Amino acid sequence: MKIISINAGSSSLKFSLFNMEDETVIASGLFERIGIEGSCYTIKYNGEKIEQKVEMNNHEDAVHLLLERLIDLHIIESLDEINGVGHRLVHGKDKYSSSVIITDEVIKDLDEFSDFAPLHNPANILGIKAFKEVLPNVSMVGVFDTAFHQTMDKTAYLYPVPYSWYKDYGVRKYGFHGTSHRYIADSVNRIFGREDLRVISCHIGNGGSIAAIQNGKCIDTSMGFTPLAGIMMGTRSGDIDPSIITYVMEKEGKNASEVIEDLNKHSGLLGLSEYSHDMRDIIESAEQGNEKAILARDKYVRTIVNYIGQYYLLLGGADAIVFTAGVGENSSPIRRLVCESLLPLGVKIDLEKNEIRGEVTKISDKGSKISVYVIPTNEELMIARDTMSLIGE
Ligand code: AMP
Repeated sequence: MKIISINAGSSSLKFSLFNMEDETVIASGLFERIGIEGSCYTIKYNGEKIEQKVEMNNHEDAVHLLLERLIDLHIIESLDEINGVGHRLVHGKDKYSSSVIITDEVIKDLDEFSDFAPLHNPANILGIKAFKEVLPNVSMVGVFDTAFHQTMDKTAYLYPVPYSWYKDYGVRKYGFHGTSHRYIADSVNRIFGREDLRVISCHIGNGGSIAAIQNGKCIDTSMGFTPLAGIMMGTRSGDIDPSIITYVMEKEGKNASEVIEDLNKHSGLLGLSEYSHDMRDIIESAEQGNEKAILARDKYVRTIVNYIGQYYLLLGGADAIVFTAGVGENSSPIRRLVCESLLPLGVKIDLEKNEIRGEVTKISDKGSKISVYVIPTNEELMIARDTMSLIGE
């Protein structure tokens, strides 16, 4: 059985084709600059990488091209081999607490919820409509980024603001990266061979969020109404005092959207270092003694440690702390600094094992009170698994 996982952006379409018998990736790739001059695609399969510039005016062109190439390259022999298509969907508000078969109602809801994810939901709809047009008889499944966090209770998801904001406008914590946190929760359950676990999942990449997971269910997470909240990120501030917004609006003669743009795009590692949003650059400069890079790195670590401490108390302890995503999977210095601050919780890591990059590894020392793991996330596989289970094959 073969399933395609799709992540559609406004001008891009990322895919992974899985053989679900052994959950291996048969092919993966990216179609970029769709509808923009210079559109191109990359397909990786069998250790080869094919890159080509081809005009693609819209997502349908991209899907046609993708399927044509899969056949031309003998990755599949016919379209009948594709049993299902799974789409990464960003915002399902509080209506969707799990993955669903995509129906017209789901598409309508995505459109209706676009206020909550103005960049992502419309792009997700483009991806769905393109596949619906090109593969009308293949079942499609939607996997929401917000769904895993729907198990949070009101104490976790409500803000202490006028209650009518929640009732009338849906102002609450939704949380994001849910598919990644769910993958981590499932992976930890498999490693331990049981589900009654307290897990702190640290998805730290360019965007980042932390989730507190009890018995496989999310009980709190650091991102909020939007992905701007929580820990410090590559270019996002994470949590700040909201009064800063009106103060800076006055000082710089900006409107609210412009200041929010500063918090989304010019803050975080980039804002403090005044140099780069990329942790590799920050670590390198910090090691050379650059003070702003040291500050950016240390503040980044501090915000992660703060959330881990909070979630340790909320969970009443922790069985596992997991690092995942770009920084979490690859940066041994950041993992070491975070874990050094967790010493009061009895966390001890093995510095040699901590040097690992991108492989499932237990990096905690034998004497550690909490097991610490690096687990590469795999949202695409999670989407394919959900698709397989919902289409009932
Ligand atoms: P993601 O958003 O999960 O793709 O993560 C991307 C981020 O991971 C990049 O912006 C880098 O900051 C970070 N990253 C990737 N590789 C490394 C590395 N070897 N060391 C430190 N950070 C890394």
